[in-house]
Amino acid sequence: MSEQIPVQDVTPPRPKPAETVDLYASREKIYTRAFTGLFRNLRMAGGAFLFLLYFGTVWINWGGHQAVWWDLPERKFYIFGATFWPQDFVLLSALLIIAAFGLFFITVFAGRVWCGYTCPQSVWTWVFMWCEKVTEGDRNQRMKLDKTPMSGAKLMRKTAKHGLWLLIGLATGLTFVGYFYPIRDLIPQLLTFQADEWAVFWIGFFTLATYGNAGWLREQVCIYMCPYARFQSVMFDKDTLIVSYDPRRGEKRGPRKKGIDYKAQGLGDCIDCTMCVQVCPTGIDIRDGLQIECIGCAACIDACDTIMDKMNYPRGLISYTTEHNLSGQQTQLVRPRLIGYAMALVAMMSVLAYAIATRSLVELDVLKDRVLYRENEQGRIENVYTLKIMNKAQRDLTFVIQADGLEGLVYEGKQEVHASAGEVLSIPVELSVDPEKMPSSTNQVRFQIRSPDDESIHTDAESRFIGPSVR
Ligand code: SF4
Ligand code: SF4
Repeated sequence: MSEQIPVQDVTPPRPKPAETVDLYASREKIYTRAFTGLFRNLRMAGGAFLFLLYFGTVWINWGGHQAVWWDLPERKFYIFGATFWPQDFVLLSALLIIAAFGLFFITVFAGRVWCGYTCPQSVWTWVFMWCEKVTEGDRNQRMKLDKTPMSGAKLMRKTAKHGLWLLIGLATGLTFVGYFYPIRDLIPQLLTFQADEWAVFWIGFFTLATYGNAGWLREQVCIYMCPYARFQSVMFDKDTLIVSYDPRRGEKRGPRKKGIDYKAQGLGDCIDCTMCVQVCPTGIDIRDGLQIECIGCAACIDACDTIMDKMNYPRGLISYTTEHNLSGQQTQLVRPRLIGYAMALVAMMSVLAYAIATRSLVELDVLKDRVLYRENEQGRIENVYTLKIMNKAQRDLTFVIQADGLEGLVYEGKQEVHASAGEVLSIPVELSVDPEKMPSSTNQVRFQIRSPDDESIHTDAESRFIGPSVR
């Protein structure tokens, strides 16, 4: 009888299946509560100013055409009486750099005030929220409406809301295209179905983009799409103003009756009413601390201050404060980084103002003919050029043309020309010289133009005069 060797199961235990982590989080609709207060009024003032600026500017006429007009086919940009050409794009780049520094400065100082008060995404979202309130009612009514099955009344309210959103979207898209295509021509052309198809496409695109962003996406744009939200956190320091809840004062939170000695019960000033959460456009609870979703709109400050007033507690449980303040240290508002940004800003703005103030209102380009030179009947060497003269002023001007650089140089061509405001002239001219007087085969010559209408308007440009080797 054979003996059996006892066996042992040495199979390694199977690893438990890894837990699946779902990276997708479905969006929970945020029903914001309407509120009043100081910061709401400031935001409304900022939003109204932005709206007026955006919708009003395209209708202002200045110097015979739209005050702000990006005339792309002509490559001219009109901004309140000044005409900019592609050659001036360096000024636009400087302006954008200054705007970026301005944003850095304001972020280091006061956190995300741009996001909360003036960012178009926020401003348009507040307006869309107002439409929602007008058509569907306040927060509780909207929540109730969404839970009820579809009915005639519900359909009417929803249609009114989406209709208003689309109307505002259309006005936004139309105005945006109006900055590139004169709006006074565009509207009649649209009404008579004669508008350019690209203009119609872009109006439709911006209408839907506004409707989608401010109506549907809202806080998702700030949380997931906006790059500024991501990189500004690195600009914050412990002295940056942030919207913050004071847990030392607020905790332990809890409901209570008005007028009781809540401190004796171990309670703080927060009555846990959740008003600060209900008014938040990004749906966060500021009592959980500083979060990337917070756009610094201060709606929670207004809401909490109202509650504090009702409870006869001091205001400021949620306030603009700093991390240093919250930890009981002194806040240093003026600090080296802020001074650095301010100095850089002032320096760049001064340089830009100087560059714009001293910008020449005439531009001259000299194009030399491809034929290097020719000899005329008198034995003189001739070179042919085309002068491109751009009148960048907002009025018609006369220009006088001269050339020098070589002894005995003779200029042939128009010596006086007239250019309308914004006109580009193409003037063919010839220069000739006695070959005996040419120091080398390649020589520098200079064209000068000046306006007898305004002595400050002049410029010059250099070119080459080519001939055979002599002497
Ligand atoms: S609004 Fe003020 S009192 Fe009400 S829950 Fe928020 S922090 Fe507390
Ligand atoms: S937490 Fe307050 S400041 Fe931040 S987004 Fe919400 S309401 Fe605005």
